[in-house]
Amino acid sequence: MTSKQEQSPAATAVPDSVENYVGGEWVTIEGDAGQPVVNPATGETLADVTFSDPDTVDEAVQTATEAFEDWRATSPVERVQYLFDLKQELEDRQEDIAQALTREHGKTLGEARGEIRRGIENVEVAAGIPNMLREGSGNVEGVASKMDEHAVRQPLGVFTAITPFNFPAMIPLWFLPYAVATGNTFILKPSEKVPLSSQIIFEAIEAVDFPDGVVNLVNGGADTVNALLEHDDIAGVSFVGSTPVAQHIYETAAEHGKRVQAQGGAKNYAVVTPDAELEASVPNIIGSVYGNAGQRCLANDVVVGVGDVYDDLREEILDDVDELTVGNGLDEDTDVGPLITGESAERVIDMIEDAVEEGADLVVDGRDFEHPDYPDGNFLGPTLLENVTTDMDITQTEIFGPVMALTKADDLDEAIEMVNSTEYGNASSLYTENGAEARKYRYEVDAGNIGINVGVCAPMGFFHFGGRKGSFFGDLHAQGEDAVNFYTDKTIEIQRWYSND
Ligand code: NAD
Repeated sequence: MTSKQEQSPAATAVPDSVENYVGGEWVTIEGDAGQPVVNPATGETLADVTFSDPDTVDEAVQTATEAFEDWRATSPVERVQYLFDLKQELEDRQEDIAQALTREHGKTLGEARGEIRRGIENVEVAAGIPNMLREGSGNVEGVASKMDEHAVRQPLGVFTAITPFNFPAMIPLWFLPYAVATGNTFILKPSEKVPLSSQIIFEAIEAVDFPDGVVNLVNGGADTVNALLEHDDIAGVSFVGSTPVAQHIYETAAEHGKRVQAQGGAKNYAVVTPDAELEASVPNIIGSVYGNAGQRCLANDVVVGVGDVYDDLREEILDDVDELTVGNGLDEDTDVGPLITGESAERVIDMIEDAVEEGADLVVDGRDFEHPDYPDGNFLGPTLLENVTTDMDITQTEIFGPVMALTKADDLDEAIEMVNSTEYGNASSLYTENGAEARKYRYEVDAGNIGINVGVCAPMGFFHFGGRKGSFFGDLHAQGEDAVNFYTDKTIEIQRWYSND
């Protein structure tokens, strides 16, 4: 249950408390379950998050349900005025959000600034919803005598999004702007590991002054999520996180009659052919593998050198890995920040050791990295394993740490077979200057996102984003036109008028 407060939380750049935001007000969460929010670079506790119980979830859903009819009746043109204001309010807070992101997640400030920019881009795209709503809603005159048929898009009610720890500011904005611009009301449940940047995003929402109950924030863990999934008045669920949880969300939400889109984990390969421009390609590969300390669903953590490119590729990679600086993301020279928790670092170390036991060679060993200034940080040095094969766990399971598994293939066919050997299908990259190879790769690789001479980054907001196989459960992806389809239903109206005969 909850009690209402009059003031916004923490007027400082980085919030030191975590509140819900329901019905246009900040609400203190009361309950027994919760956990600290810890800076992974320093071990410092930044705030505590209490988990919302089912009664608290129910209050938020009721509030969002009550707000729906008026919001739905608000013209799309007027609805998007709030998004124009939100873009400005978020831009005014960009640096605060980036500072909070780096402290709660560990990523570098550069990565944090890039992340919030990509989130704001989705607000910009969703501001074009009045135009996008025309797609798929049309008229055909005279389908029978004096009879016309129309398709109109309609919002469905209350939607929720449940988001992961690795992009705490961007991922909520893959959903929130589209859900509300199409006329639904919305509840965000951010990752309990990183709830602070959402506090600032909701300060921006408070400043925009959406009608009460249109946009809500509920913090919590698995029980909070399950209360949302099982609630009768939630129309649909967007999820991003690990594959086992994505599958649970998909099945539970569907069982409760909801629309659902659930983006899961990944295992992405980069393939480099002898036709690649190595000098330009290797820094890009390094960025994809070690950026965000490898905690990206698009990280290409297995790299395959085809044929005789292997030795040169290996040498250039080793030179670049050697240049990477590990540290606190707030320090200007840091390239690789800490992992989110000590348990995550332990899990990655176990994966490295299992790979060595299975026959891989540990060429660069980051397991014992200790930072002299941050003895309590969850750091791992950049690590490189060589001679991996597709029957090893390291080539099949998401690493989510600063580790590259390097291997070779005789030809492109063998490399593509390796890429397709995993149960995932999120992304893959090919490095080549040969157009025919690039075309073959796009055609034969079973993944939702393909990079040619680039590590895949989240597509621009006006394109959809999602994977295949074990990386995605559902059919409509996030962002762009898919978001409009997910957040609306198309009603057919058939008309016949007799009186003007
Ligand atoms: P996670 O699955 O542990 O948590 C994601 C969300 O689910 C959190 O909000 C959490 O509170 C909730 N949750 C966790 N366990 C739950 C349970 N048992 N029941 C109900 N809810 C539960 O994921 P994470 O560790 O925060 O994020 C990392 C994962 O997300 C990686 O696997 C990564 O690949 C994936 N990811 C995928 C994409 C994509 O676009 N496919 C993007 C980013 C991250």
